[in-house]
Amino acid sequence: MLILMHKDATRRQIEAVCSHVKQSGLSPHEIPGSIRMAIGITGNQGALSPEQFAHLDGVAECVPVSKPYKLVSREVKPESTVVDIRGVKVGDGSLSVIAGPCSVESRDQVFRTAEAVVNSGVQLFRGGAFKPRTSPYSFQGLKQEGLRLLEEVRRQFDLRIVTEVKDAATLDEVAEVADVVQIGARNMQNFTLLENAGRLRMPVLLKRGMSATLKELFMAAEYLLSLGNFQVILCERGIRTFETMTRNTFDLSAVVLIKRHTHLPVIADPSHGVGIDWAVPPMARAAVVAGADGVMVEVHPEPAKALSDGQQSLTFDTYAKLATELNELAAWRTAHR
Ligand code: PEP
Ligand code: MN
Repeated sequence: MLILMHKDATRRQIEAVCSHVKQSGLSPHEIPGSIRMAIGITGNQGALSPEQFAHLDGVAECVPVSKPYKLVSREVKPESTVVDIRGVKVGDGSLSVIAGPCSVESRDQVFRTAEAVVNSGVQLFRGGAFKPRTSPYSFQGLKQEGLRLLEEVRRQFDLRIVTEVKDAATLDEVAEVADVVQIGARNMQNFTLLENAGRLRMPVLLKRGMSATLKELFMAAEYLLSLGNFQVILCERGIRTFETMTRNTFDLSAVVLIKRHTHLPVIADPSHGVGIDWAVPPMARAAVVAGADGVMVEVHPEPAKALSDGQQSLTFDTYAKLATELNELAAWRTAHR
């Protein structure tokens, strides 16, 4: 159920509605809009009746929400969410680019990469310190040492850091360095991690699980929002299909559907989506045209020597060329909105 308040409803009326909701054993979620406040209600097992709330002062309308995902849906919040990453906006119509290596490997590697991508105008830097790997014998990340290096990069280049959290036990230390906490594909339904990240009050990048439907992605995001964290960015990173020539099948239609069904910004990750360096630039460009709020790409000083995902990492030169093309496409998109 969604309660739409009158556009001139007072703070006191809004609070009275919220406490009425709580007294009924349910959870109210304030969703400010540019015109009026909406209050989403969750926690009910069956359908709610509008009469329960329609008589309260300041209430304009009570609207049942048909979708199983409530707080992430456009039904509940028609206006797009803009996530603010220490002053850098994602979802405001501009194009956000997140670039950096798959893993933090050394001081030299992250500093060289940061310098290269900053020269192409990047404000959001990615790099994993805790790496969830398919094989226990593969490089697992520099962990705490990796976080320290990311902290240095953050200070030195005034970059916003996007880095992955692997489990609930390390969430606090990752959140201290991260400007955006990334929840990876393998963790999309790690409900303990989602609950803990939902209690954070900072941006979370939630990647689609490799065999997750969009509905499952939305339900995973719902965990975060239902615990009060509305600063959520969704990420399409490819799904498993019968195709074997690409690492995954990059589901560009997901970008369009996410924008339609939710108010959350969406980032496309063609690096994991296709897993082949030369296929990344065209799919990154396609994602911008499809309406993604941003793209995330892996960049490495020497992809052939990367400790993870070298086959899909761009060189500095390829990245610089792509960055120029993406800026042109972003300008085209703005002009054609
Ligand atoms: C990554 O971003 O390096 C990563 C591990 O991605 P995913 O969770 O999508 O596999
Ligand atoms: Mn990677």
